[in-house]
This record gives sequence, C-alpha cells and structure tokens, in this order.
Amino acid sequence: MSKKAFDAVIVGAGSVGTPLTMILAEKGISVLCIDSSPSAGQGNNKCAIGGIRATHSEFAKVMLGLRSLEIFRTWREMHGDDISWYQGGYTYVAYDMKTMDIFRRNVPAQQKAGLDIRLVDSEEMKNLIPGINSEGLLGGTWSPGDGSASPMQSCYAFQRRAEELGAEFTFGETVRSFNIEGNRVLSVNTGDNSYPCGTVVNCAGSFAAEVGEMTGVELPVEPESHEAGVTEPVRRLFDPMVVDIRTAPGSANYYFYQHDTGQIVFCITPDPPIPGTDTRETSEFLPLVAPRMTDLYPRLANLKVRRTWRGIYPMTPDGAPILDRCGPDNHYVAVGMCGQGFMLGPGIGEVMARFVTDELNKTDVKVLTELSLARLSGTYLTSSTYLT
Ligand SMILES: Cc1cc2nc3c(=O)[nH]c(=O)nc-3n(C[C@H](O)[C@H](O)[C@H](O)COP(=O)(O)OP(=O)(O)OC[C@H]3O[C@@H](n4cnc5c(N)ncnc54)[C@H](O)[C@@H]3O)c2cc1C
Repeated sequence: MSKKAFDAVIVGAGSVGTPLTMILAEKGISVLCIDSSPSAGQGNNKCAIGGIRATHSEFAKVMLGLRSLEIFRTWREMHGDDISWYQGGYTYVAYDMKTMDIFRRNVPAQQKAGLDIRLVDSEEMKNLIPGINSEGLLGGTWSPGDGSASPMQSCYAFQRRAEELGAEFTFGETVRSFNIEGNRVLSVNTGDNSYPCGTVVNCAGSFAAEVGEMTGVELPVEPESHEAGVTEPVRRLFDPMVVDIRTAPGSANYYFYQHDTGQIVFCITPDPPIPGTDTRETSEFLPLVAPRMTDLYPRLANLKVRRTWRGIYPMTPDGAPILDRCGPDNHYVAVGMCGQGFMLGPGIGEVMARFVTDELNKTDVKVLTELSLARLSGTYLTSSTYLT
C-alpha cells in the first residue's frame, strides 16, 4: 500500500539510525525510520557493552567521538532521561615496551586532534585502577573525558525525543526493495507498504550490504561475531574502562569497565576473527577472557558472571565506518560501524543530517573524505566532492 511521503526515510533504528532520525527531526525534516525488529535498538545496539570514547587514532573518529561524548554527557541535563552515563574515563594499559611505544606514537596526534589524553606512568595507573596487577606494569594512556552509558536507555531516549519532534517509526517491517527511477530512489518498499521519500539513508548495521545491493551499491561490510559478559553488581572498585591491547593465544585485545549500577561488563576480540552472524553464546568465551581479566585485575576472581551474550560487529576492511552518498543521487549510507557504532552514533547522526540537508562544514568534509566508500577501493575523493 502506498503511504504518506517523507523527506527522509532511514533504514534501521539502531545505534546510528535512531540518533540520525532524531537529529533530522530537530531540523524540521519529516522523517520515517523503518526497522524489522519490534522496537528500536534490538539489533547490534543492544549487544554493545556501552563504552563511549573519543580515544581513537584517526582524525574522523576522534571528531565523531568528541561530539558523541558531548551528547551522551549532557543528555540528562538537556533532556531529563537517565541513560546511565558515567564519566569514568578510558585507560589503555602497557606491560611491555612495544605497547608503550604505540601509545607514545599515538598520543601527540590524538592531542593535536583535540582529545584530552596523556601518557601516565605505572604509579599513576595504579591510582587510576586501584588493585591492578602492578607486576611489569609500565603505565599507559589516560583519557578522562571518555565514559559509558546504557545502549538501550540511550536508544530509547533518542527515539522518544525524535517522536516528540514529529519523527515516525515503524517496527516489524523489513525493507525489501526501492523504486528507483533515473538516478533517484522514489520510494522504499517493505512487504506491505511503499513509502515515497526525498532521501534514503542505509543504517542497516549487519545487513547494510544486503540493503546496499537493493540500490546496486556494493558495500564491503562483513558481519563478525563478538561475545560479551556481565557480572553481579558490587560496590565501585575502579572508575575507567580498562583496555589491554596485547595479544594472547585465541584473542587480541580485551576490555572491561564497571557500569554505573555496579556490574563489571567485559568483551574480548577473538583472534582469528569469527566471521558470520552466529549469535549463540559459546563455551569458549569465558575460559578465554576470564584468566586474562583476573590476571590484570585479581579482585575480579571473586565475582560471579551473571550472563554472556553474542552479537555482531559490522566490519569494514580497515575497521572504520563508511559515511557516504553513493548509487542513486538521494541515497546515503552510514554503515560498517565495526565495534564503535554506539559510541559514534550521535556524532555520525549530526554529520549525516548535515550531509542530507546540504549544511556541511569544513570539519564534516574532512570527516566524510576520510570515511568515504572510495577510500576502500583506493580511489580517494577530494574534499570538494562533498561541497557539490
Ligand atoms: C559484544 C559487543 C560489544 C560491543 N561493545 C560496544 C561498545 O562498548 N561501544 C560501541 O560503540 N560499540 C560496541 N559494539 C558495536 C556496536 O554494537 C555496533 O557497532 C553498533 O550497534 C552498530 O550500529 P548500527 O546502527 O550500524 O547497527 P544496529 O544497531 O544493528 O542497527 C541496525 C538496524 O537495522 C535494522 N535492519 C537491518 N536490515 C533491515 C531491513 N532490511 N529493513 C528494516 N530494518 C533493517 C536491524 O533490525 C537493526 O535494528 C559492540 C558490539 C558487540 C557485538
């Protein structure tokens, strides 16, 4: 059935599509967000452990992270909802010179990009993470502005504000095709309905490549399985997210923090990676992650794990998102969020909203150039592409 027309239709009410819908609605754009799930944030968004940082090594991600942090940090004050924001900061720990050298190389560039980060020695690290294993600890980095929040509370808060501003959401509807005429998408088709649109944005997470194909655009976004877990709640032990980037048999980095409500939430990056969309928890995860965590932070040995879960990272070949306009003239993509879609979502929402409404500023252009689809085929676009 043909339905009401919208200026913009967003495919996917996840970590990115929901804040983007809200920001477009703030600009007075009529916007519809379509998701096949029964409610917002039910895709990868709810699998995220809630870490939010601007501590990245690329300019674009630092910019998007800083802006996202500001939105998460001020949300309660500006809009009243509790999203469990906790500004505990991020620490990257070093137990060997190779790791410390990586930090020494990265920190000046991160500071230049505007990030509040510095190197700390082992004494300061021990103060930041009381109880950390001090044997061989050399220090690491400290970014006090980073933090954490609840992905579900945040997504719901963004949806509610979007609706207050007049945006519409439809759930339980899967986008199956587009009506394309000439070089424009005219409408977005779900099984039952067809929604005429001025613009469409693909924010389909792990299904981004399938949705891209509907417009003839090939998007190099591959799903990869990642697991996480949560313990029982305890009184506060430490403040920051703790990231250990050393590799060990079966895993690359792992990271954990103590949530606002007391639970330790943790995650590990399997090595080699596990491609695919399998979301069944494995019996390998806890034996892999627990010894590494308790070695680094022995007090955790006394905590009971309450639950583990498994979700998907929508990966790109270089581990950075793709933000672009491609295929039909009015077709945009904000996809390939890898392990960072929650923390970058609101910042990406703002840049994509300005892209759609032709209001890009100079920093946006730099960000979009760095995150263009063309970078992955080696054909770098010039910044001017985005000013046309
Ligand atoms: C274990 C784990 C821990 C993580 N921890 C963090 C973390 O601490 N911080 C962080 O920033 N990130 C983290 N992530 C990554 C984060 O979850 C993702 O990067 C992010 O959720 C991706 O956002 P998205 O909006 O692209 O996708 P999603 O949130 O998955 O949203 C995509 C939406 O599109 C919908 N959709 C897809 N196809 C269609 C279609 N054809 N029609 C209609 N709807 C469709 C889906 O139903 C879904 O709701 C973690 C991920 C995992 C698995």
